[in-house]
Amino acid sequence: MTTEERRLHRLARIRRRKELGPIPNRHPMTDLSNMTKEEKRLRINKMQRERGYKRGRKPGPLEGQRAAKTNRSNMTDEEKRIHRNILAMRRYHNGGQEKQLEAGRQWRKKAPEKKKALDRKGRLKQKYNLTIDDYKAMQTAQENRCGICQSTEKSSPRFKLWCVDHDEETGRIRGLLCHNCNAGIGLFKHNIERLEQAIQYLRSFPLKGE
Ligand SMILES: [Zn+2]
Repeated sequence: MTTEERRLHRLARIRRRKELGPIPNRHPMTDLSNMTKEEKRLRINKMQRERGYKRGRKPGPLEGQRAAKTNRSNMTDEEKRIHRNILAMRRYHNGGQEKQLEAGRQWRKKAPEKKKALDRKGRLKQKYNLTIDDYKAMQTAQENRCGICQSTEKSSPRFKLWCVDHDEETGRIRGLLCHNCNAGIGLFKHNIERLEQAIQYLRSFPLKGE
């Protein structure tokens, strides 16, 4: 719109307003024109209270949540739990998700070794209910050797941890093994009879040079 157009537009608007008289308020509830000063003040206060204003201040976006937070004293534990979950969910979907993901990404980038150590810790805990200290104690007790072949290598330098050999049925932990020995007894289903049969079988063939 050019300056001239804008001027004409403004003039047209003024002319229209003169023809129509003053613009009426949209709703009689908000029409304060015929009130005394005191009536106006009371009406405005009432409207603001209804809209959640406090001391003439507009409620912020979190005001409702804060109010709910203070009411938690009347909740049962289960209701409190649900309420906490709702708040967490709201935070999560209100941009918290991306924030969390980004923080995780930054942390992993900054400390990849820490991340790996933590993964290891989680795996030990989840699979065998072992802490890192338990694992280290076992390692020391076995003098950092495989429980079967006594090797100090874990079969390959890419393995950072010994295999935790455990009874599949009872979950009892037997000891630490190198990855080859662990795979070996695993393929024999941890079955002593079958392993003995394997030994017998191997014994039935004379060794080279005998
Ligand atoms: Zn071994």
